[in-house]
Amino acid sequence: MTAHTAPFDVDRVRADFPILTREVHGKPLVYLDNAATTQKPRAVLDRLARYYSHENANVHRGVHFLSADGTEHYEEARRSVQRFVGAEHAREVVFTRGTTESINLVAHGFARGGFLASGDEILVSALEHHANVVPWQMAAEVTGATLRVIPMTDRGDLDLTDLDSLINERTRIVAVTHTSNALGTVTPLAKIIAAARAMDVPVLVDGAQATPHAAVDVQALGADFFVFSSHKTYGPTGIGVLWGREAWLDKLPPYQGGGDMIENVTFEKTTYTGLPGKFEAGTPHVAGGIGLGAAVEYLMDLGMENVAAHEADLVSYAEAQLGAVEGLTFVGTPEARASAISFLLDGIHPYDAGTVLDRLGIAVRTGQHCAQPVMDRLGVPGTVRASFGLYNTRAEVDVLIDGLSRVRTLFG
Ligand code: PLP
Repeated sequence: MTAHTAPFDVDRVRADFPILTREVHGKPLVYLDNAATTQKPRAVLDRLARYYSHENANVHRGVHFLSADGTEHYEEARRSVQRFVGAEHAREVVFTRGTTESINLVAHGFARGGFLASGDEILVSALEHHANVVPWQMAAEVTGATLRVIPMTDRGDLDLTDLDSLINERTRIVAVTHTSNALGTVTPLAKIIAAARAMDVPVLVDGAQATPHAAVDVQALGADFFVFSSHKTYGPTGIGVLWGREAWLDKLPPYQGGGDMIENVTFEKTTYTGLPGKFEAGTPHVAGGIGLGAAVEYLMDLGMENVAAHEADLVSYAEAQLGAVEGLTFVGTPEARASAISFLLDGIHPYDAGTVLDRLGIAVRTGQHCAQPVMDRLGVPGTVRASFGLYNTRAEVDVLIDGLSRVRTLFG
């Protein structure tokens, strides 16, 4: 891996990602599906190979050297994540399988821990990914609580007009995304969190589309839970993070039972270990945790402010270029947009557009983006979504624009 001390140099950054040199259908890969998953830098790939080649052992168990060493690396990765999100304590960082599991853990904990009952309300927003809707519906179903929704405008922004009545004495939790994966909207979290705090209501922030693009400081954010996925943040699949305030994590019951999460087990009664072990039953994804640690160290080395500045330039360039494409309509034109842009081409099905772009080596996502309520609200069956990462370039945006004119020639 290159040591990045100089200002952000996208060519040097690209050299850290082996996959970016490959061809797809005989064309250079233009990877614009970063909201689905990001590619992995050599720092992560090498770290995974080193773990499995030289360090593999189960953690938190053995007295032998490799087990103790593996435990140290795994816990060091937790400390890297702690620094990455600005958590006060490493024990507030729980490793999960990803954003989806982190939200399920909290929703399950609220239901099973007696924090939800009939008549209570759970508030989500109209911009949520299914992962921040369905677990809450399930929690509502078993407790008798009701799901309420912060509405959205035609532009794809949240409409906070009725926020003061939506967060009321019946509200038990607000679960809202930092950034919409479908439209790229950055939500007005500061206002939502302030309103929730004024009513003493905890807030969960879905940070799946935040951590790849900008620095996060969970303490400054003022939420109670913050969740994200490693694979969207340049780390391995199968691992993710739940950060929670210690006071809340202490109160919530375990999500799963088994080894590693216990203090004392008898057939009559089991007591649980402290944080974060209470929420990490069974053998954890050791390699994944260590790989995620390498990913966030890589990002901190690049500097998230540099990443954010590079992507802001790229997104405004892409918006301008896409805006000039004949017959292209943006789906959502939010006040604040992160690195995903959704659009439609007049009379051309998103799937057809995506298929032609694929033949040109351009990877975009088409469809509902696991956000069916967003599509329903805007009255579209789906969109074409170009989503950017730290290694994308203006030249790649130009390739996309050329690709879209090919699409128009074929189908227009
Ligand atoms: N939340 C948002 C905003 C997302 O974009 C995604 C994935 O696209 C998820 C949640 C679910 O993440 P995962 O599938 O990694 O659990």
